[in-house]
Amino acid sequence: MSHPNTADQALVREINLSLVLRYVHNEAPVSRAQIAATTGLNKSTVSSLVDELLERRLIHEIGINAGGTGRPATLLEINPQAGGIIGIELGVDFVAVALTDFAGKIVWRKDTSADPSQTQDRVIAETLQLAGQAIAASRDRDLNILGLGVATPGTVDLKEGILIFAPNLHWRNVPLKKIYTENTGLKVFVENDANAAALGEHLFGAARRCTDFIFVFAGVGIGSGLFLNGQLYRGKNGYAGEIGHSPIIAGPTQAPCHCGNRGCWETYANQYSIIQRAQARLEVKRNSIIPRLMAEQGASLSIAIIKQAADEGDIEALESFAEAGTAMGQGFAALVNMFNPEKIFMGGPLSFAGKYMLPSIQQAILRHALPETSHQVEILLSSFGPDASLIGATSIVVHDILQNPTHAERR
Ligand SMILES: [Zn+2]
Repeated sequence: MSHPNTADQALVREINLSLVLRYVHNEAPVSRAQIAATTGLNKSTVSSLVDELLERRLIHEIGINAGGTGRPATLLEINPQAGGIIGIELGVDFVAVALTDFAGKIVWRKDTSADPSQTQDRVIAETLQLAGQAIAASRDRDLNILGLGVATPGTVDLKEGILIFAPNLHWRNVPLKKIYTENTGLKVFVENDANAAALGEHLFGAARRCTDFIFVFAGVGIGSGLFLNGQLYRGKNGYAGEIGHSPIIAGPTQAPCHCGNRGCWETYANQYSIIQRAQARLEVKRNSIIPRLMAEQGASLSIAIIKQAADEGDIEALESFAEAGTAMGQGFAALVNMFNPEKIFMGGPLSFAGKYMLPSIQQAILRHALPETSHQVEILLSSFGPDASLIGATSIVVHDILQNPTHAERR
């Protein structure tokens, strides 16, 4: 019998380290004995792996479990102080930057509205300035930075970290990874906003133990992150999930989409469509409080104002959300028929009004998807609501460390 060579042994150890770290992440608090029983690794191997993860400060001991019938055991969990992570969300009309700890808790954040007419360089400069503030905030909290994640709308070349095309931003071929690496010196990951949100929901939210779910990111655009068989499904070139541009309810007279086409699903259910629906209703009805709210705030018609009116029971506002929810639900029904997911999450900017859309989304699914799947699927708002992609951006970095614990480098 030949002995495994050193490279094989190192690889096996790295795989086992990842296995133990992921188990602690998912199931904490856990004891060494529980890790051994669940992973099938022997107790001395688990003990050695746990020692290494403790030494790397990726996990920590949180006391003794004296309850139960067995011997008291020391419990382990992810060490929130393992390091800080910076997340950047490039929205269509805003940018957000956050600093989280290793357990996914936001410890610092700043948002700013981005004028869509601003140039690409100015928007990126703004995020770099906020990232600088996040790095300073990490020093105040004794968190060395483990990496920086960027979530962007559009299609992304993952390996090179290039934004290929974001129709709603009108950006093409932007080397985001290169730009952020050169300016911060950090390890940088770039991911599509809906994919990032799906990963965030899986690592830190309500999809923690779910192997088949879809994350629908809804704002100015609509995109989806497909989490299938326990991992993100990216397709051949990483562009899978761009469902907002599918002609699910295409009509040749529907408003043009930013992608250059007409009749894309997102034009029926996105933020603009809700504003248009409310606008059309205001032109024929007189009994809405929306005009008063606009006058009081000196503001034009916006999702925020329609939501405020809905909060006060305004029927025109409620109907505008419900109609868009029906269109949203027709797209969800296509996803349900195609993928038979356990759950679909709705997150992103529009989810702050999600409660007014969920009932009509659910009705449309029951009406349009096959009964075997439509009765089982759960439709939920994201655990992180409008922050789904921001948390998602940081979760890309955490995911990389969970897969490769020895990669974790603090700066
Ligand atoms: Zn389109």
